[in-house]
Amino acid sequence: MKKYDLIIIGGGASGLMAGIFAKDRGLNFLIIEKNDRVGMKLGITGKGRCNITNYITDLDDLVNKYTHNGKFLYHAFNEFGVQNTFDFFEKRLNIPLKVERGKRVFPKSEKSLDIVNAFYNELKENILLETTVKEIKKEGNRISEVVTDKREYIADHYILATGGKTYPVTGSTGDGYTFAESLGHTLHPTYPVLLGFKCKESFVKDLAGLSLKFVNVSVFRDGKVYKEAFGSMLFTHDGISGPTILNLSQYTSDMYEEGFEVSIDLKPRVEFSELDGRVNELLRDSGGIQIKNVLGYLMPKSLIPVVLELSLLIPERECCHITREERLRLVNVLKGISLRVYGHEGWERAVVNTGGVDIKEVDPNTMGSKIIKNLSFTGDVLDVFGPTGGFNLQIAWSSSFIAVEGL
Ligand SMILES: Cc1cc2nc3c(=O)[nH]c(=O)nc-3n(C[C@H](O)[C@H](O)[C@H](O)COP(=O)(O)OP(=O)(O)OC[C@H]3O[C@@H](n4cnc5c(N)ncnc54)[C@H](O)[C@@H]3O)c2cc1C
Repeated sequence: MKKYDLIIIGGGASGLMAGIFAKDRGLNFLIIEKNDRVGMKLGITGKGRCNITNYITDLDDLVNKYTHNGKFLYHAFNEFGVQNTFDFFEKRLNIPLKVERGKRVFPKSEKSLDIVNAFYNELKENILLETTVKEIKKEGNRISEVVTDKREYIADHYILATGGKTYPVTGSTGDGYTFAESLGHTLHPTYPVLLGFKCKESFVKDLAGLSLKFVNVSVFRDGKVYKEAFGSMLFTHDGISGPTILNLSQYTSDMYEEGFEVSIDLKPRVEFSELDGRVNELLRDSGGIQIKNVLGYLMPKSLIPVVLELSLLIPERECCHITREERLRLVNVLKGISLRVYGHEGWERAVVNTGGVDIKEVDPNTMGSKIIKNLSFTGDVLDVFGPTGGFNLQIAWSSSFIAVEGL
């Protein structure tokens, strides 16, 4: 049986990146991928535009963005950071990049498939498609072979790059967790994170598709503000999503059973009293005009009926007749649309999950297993994740670099 220097299990973001580094080192390697093409999840990242990384070049600032096990990534980011990633895609894969709002980096073409294809074209001779790894066998503290649905393969070293278990239609079905456990690794319980909330309020579906920018969203726990996020959000047919919500969902894994309150401040940059003054002025200047026809100055049109209903105001009421009490109710709603969250979008829609291979059993300098001598881990299979904005793919790129460097 042919023996490879390296077998990479999984042809997703981190497996493909590891493949390029292996190629550049002249290794004899094989990428085993169960789908009929590589990078299915990579192809849908950033809504099909692939948010490759986030342009934070200061190491401490970058690590601080990772609230869950961020310190574990310090060495990986030091060895292969954001600038290395930027240069890699532009110079090694010839994909011009651009930096957008929030320092998010995308290919100029705005096509994630350009990224997937660039990887594939470099690696196609080393990729085995439609081949599922079923078992990883060990002898003592070394892997002896991987068993696929077709035949067995052997190598000096193995990288487990099978991803997490969110968005399973892309092939990331948590197989790596089963393999890691069978090899003696500890697994932390997995929960989907970076996903939208489901809400009870019926008006939510009337607003489906409405995106709000520059809002502040607060999550309440035990009657107090527990976490806040500023930025944009989106109403969906049964709840709320978008960057602020996805990032807040990092902290709410244990809160869905009881449900929790979320409040949306539509005017976070203006204090209550100042906003009240502005609304008062607007109403005064609008005289006999109906309230529903003046609120367009303060919010998108589709939100007006909802805000008026929540403020218990008749849409046809003339501005000059609105009382102080009614105005304060309106300002209260502008400063906090309240929603009750009772669930989340589920594994099918989550960007990543928390939990997975315990990082205490992995060497942060090489991503090598401390239990199995010839095994390393890359990407989502590890118990690490970052917020939205390119931070999760950066884990895939950096962990792959040090995994191959460490061989
Ligand atoms: C909708 C969505 C949008 C996202 N957008 C972004 C974004 O814009 N920016 C960002 O930073 N992150 C984003 N992410 C997260 C990012 O995609 C992941 O962090 C990244 O893909 C992880 O790479 P990976 O190599 O660890 O796993 P994956 O990319 O999931 O790859 C794992 C691969 O292993 C294969 N595999 C699994 N089991 C087996 C087996 N038994 N045998 C053979 N092959 C197997 C799978 O088929 C898959 O191809 C997004 C995620 C989702 C779901």
